[in-house]
Amino acid sequence: MLQPYLSACPNCSRNLGSEPVGSKPPYTYCQFCGVQLVPVLWQRLLVVLLSLILAIAFPLFLGIRGLLPSIFAALLCFFPALVVAMILIFKNIRPKYARKPGYVMTLFQR
Ligand SMILES: [Zn+2]
Repeated sequence: MLQPYLSACPNCSRNLGSEPVGSKPPYTYCQFCGVQLVPVLWQRLLVVLLSLILAIAFPLFLGIRGLLPSIFAALLCFFPALVVAMILIFKNIRPKYARKPGYVMTLFQR
């Protein structure tokens, strides 16, 4: 194992991985040092991409025809699809954490 802690906190580098993989949803903050966390960009993109595919596939599966009804149904399905995509992805991939964007910015705000 080259990377002992794939789900390490970017701030205190303690292990936030759950055993087995996907037994817990990804953390929104570090349970050790309290820094706010988000999954890294490529994992967030993966979630959005998968939820788009699901949101488009679901109306097709239901047999909705026509461009406008399909778009409307896809919009309705997008948020449930986002949740499903997150569950599917983080059940199989260990979340790799980055600091929540905006955290650094607050250091410079007075
Ligand atoms: Zn931490």
